[in-house]
This record gives sequence, C-alpha cells and structure tokens, in this order.
Amino acid sequence: MEWNELLIRYGEISLKGRNRNVFVRKLRNNIKDALSDLTTVVIRPERDRMFLFADDNQDMQEAIARLPYIFGIQSFSPVAKCEATLETIKNKALDVIGASETIGKTFKVEIRRTDKSFPLETNELQQEIGAHVLRSFPELGVRMKKPDILLRVDIRAEGAFLTAKVYEGAGGMPVGSNGHSLLMLSGGIDSPVAGYLMMKRGVSIDAIHFASPPFTGELAKKKVVDLAEKLSSFGAAVRLHIIPFTEIQQIIVTQIPDNVSMTTTRRMMLQIADKVRMEIGALAIITGESLGQVASQTLESLTAINAVTSTPILRPLISSDKLEIIDIAQKIGTYDISIRPYEDCCTIFTPSNPKTKPRLEKVAYYESFTDFAPMIEEAVAKRTMYQLPRQQNTDFEDLL
Ligand code: ATP
Ligand code: MG
Repeated sequence: MEWNELLIRYGEISLKGRNRNVFVRKLRNNIKDALSDLTTVVIRPERDRMFLFADDNQDMQEAIARLPYIFGIQSFSPVAKCEATLETIKNKALDVIGASETIGKTFKVEIRRTDKSFPLETNELQQEIGAHVLRSFPELGVRMKKPDILLRVDIRAEGAFLTAKVYEGAGGMPVGSNGHSLLMLSGGIDSPVAGYLMMKRGVSIDAIHFASPPFTGELAKKKVVDLAEKLSSFGAAVRLHIIPFTEIQQIIVTQIPDNVSMTTTRRMMLQIADKVRMEIGALAIITGESLGQVASQTLESLTAINAVTSTPILRPLISSDKLEIIDIAQKIGTYDISIRPYEDCCTIFTPSNPKTKPRLEKVAYYESFTDFAPMIEEAVAKRTMYQLPRQQNTDFEDLL
C-alpha cells in the first residue's frame, strides 16, 4: 500500500499552552534526526498535529517503522489521499481497509466534510462507502461502538483523506524539551532504567561514572560505555564522563570507619557529580536509587548523602520494586549489559556491615579530618569523556 502522508498526534504536549511551540519544534527536530537518512521525508508541523510526507514509498515504510520509538508521539496514522469524488473514494476505501487485517474484525465509517459543496450528505456517503467495503470484505462485521477498524474519510477542498490504522507511539515528551540532566550511571541494573525514564519525560542527559582502576578493569568500563550507548538510542546523543575514583576510595578505606564509609563514598560521588553538572550546564542529577533496596538507600542514608548539595536529585525509581525495574531493563535492552559480571568501584569497596541509619553529624565529623576538596577537584579535572552519537533503535519492540 502506498500512503501519501502520516498524521502524527502529539498527546501530552498539546496540553502545554504557550510552551507548545517549543515542544512541537523539538519533536520535529527529533523526528528529523531519527529519519535523517531517509532523504525524501518532509515534515510539516501544525498546531495540534504533524504531517510527514515521503516521495519514496520505501522511506515512508521505514518512517512507519521508526516513529514508535520517538518520545512525544502519542499515535500516528498513515493517510491515503484521492480525488474527492464518490467513485474514487469508494475505491480508495478498499485499498485502505485491505492494508489492515480484516478476518474477525469489526468496522465503521466516519465522514468529516469540511468541503460542504460535496454533492452527497454525510449519511448517504457513510452508507455508500460502508456497503461498498462490505461487498469486498464480507468477513467484516459492522460495529458503531469501538470498532476494530475506524475508517475515517475527511473531505476537504483539496481532496479526500482516508485513514484506518492507528499506531501507538512511545508517549512521553520529546527528548530535550524538559532540559538537561546528569545521570549517575553505575554498571548496575537500576541507573540505566532511571536514565531511560527521564529521557522519556523529555530530559536529555550526560552520564557520569566512577571507576577505580586497577580494581575495576577495562571490561567494567566497556560495560558502562555500552549502557550509555544503549541510552543514546532513545532520542539523543549521550556524553559519558568517567571519573578516576581510586585515590578517594583508598583514602576513605583508611580514614573513615567501615560502617559509614559507604555514606562518605556516596557523598564524594555526589559532590564530584555536582561539579561536573555545573560545568556542563545541567540542571539536575539523576540516580537509580530505590527506597529500601540497600543500606545506602534508606531515608536516613539519602538524607546524609543529599546534604552535600541543594541541586535537585531526580530518583525516578524511588518507589519501584526490583522486579518492575528488571522488567523495564529487559524491555529497553539494558538488562543483558547490566548483568555482565564485572564489578564497579562500589561493589569492590563495599564494607560488610554498612549502617542503615547513618547520622549526618557523625559522617561529617569523620570526614572533617581529611581535606577531600583538592581530591574532588582533581577527579573532576582528570575525567575522560566519550561522545556517544545518537543510535538508531531497532530492538525494543517488546516495549510497544
Ligand atoms: P544500580 O543498579 O544503578 O547500580 P544499585 O541498586 O546498585 O543501583 P547503589 O549501588 O546503591 O544501588 O547505587 C545507587 C545509585 O548511585 C545508582 O543507581 C547510581 O545512580 C549511583 N552510582 C552507584 N555507583 C556508581 C558509579 N560507580 N558510578 C556512577 N554512579 C553510581
Ligand atoms: Mg550498583
């Protein structure tokens, strides 16, 4: 079937009042980026919907395959256009219905006439077209409420426009329409999922990872690069900052009592992350923390860790169960990377009995004997960066 255009519906962004233009522009740019190799594609945004055209039918089919992965699209429909005469509309209706599965399905015709000069009344049209479709597809049932196939015929001065199929979009908001944040990306299961969820909410990201060579190896680093690359398939390039963290961790091991060393480790990480955040102009920090999951994720721990900054910390998984998180990780394709067996810096230095209720004053007191500030500066300055260009997403169909 050769479609003439795609009708793209925005969903939530249409609620955004005066900001709508920003959202629409972002979505258009993101779609353009995602389809940049399809040379015949042209996009025309309107106030509350967008149209996509492609001269080449192959480009059109490829666009249909890629749009479900772009955040900010609620749904889209392929549209067939024809001359606005009864005969051509009836014939086109057969093509359009024929492009969907018809066995065991119900259908209904809906007519919209902005061109009032069209000779037939809406009711007559509906009956003519409906009867014609049923003659060719006798297996179809007719149903007025919630039919499987809703054949819409839009009659305008410039022609008739027919749609029958609605593809679900990924929902969410266009990546980049809600600002930029820094994701603390470990090699674990949770933080990539946290990054994905914020991207879905329109946030573009840089990622920061703490490595402790030689205790953590090249393969642990490769794992994080692969995770960041996976995230870059959800709508925007991701830049990854890898922080040399060995020196600070070794000092913590010797200077801070075992049962609060995890809290101090987190506090150092957060201070470093905050400095990088400021340098790159990001507004918030994202983590994969989930309440109660481990000792460092009790409310008392989060309070002690959080005390080093007033920057907003976004924790999209705070109320999620591990199984729910794993479920998303599997669907977005990060799970298999996360379970590779290479340990990150925290796993290696984890004490056996971390306090679940560390007291902020105590932690700050133990830290006060060491001048961490220059080490923090140095770690920020000595970071290595990787630019991971936007990837084409091909393998997260399960999510749809
Ligand atoms: P994850 O599965 O994301 O590793 P986790 O359940 O292992 O999470 P923690 O190890 O307590 O939990 O880490 C909590 C959060 O701190 C992580 O989700 C991540 O955002 C951040 N974090 C932990 N370790 C690192 C690291 N080496 N580099 C960057 N961020 C980290
Ligand atoms: Mg972890």
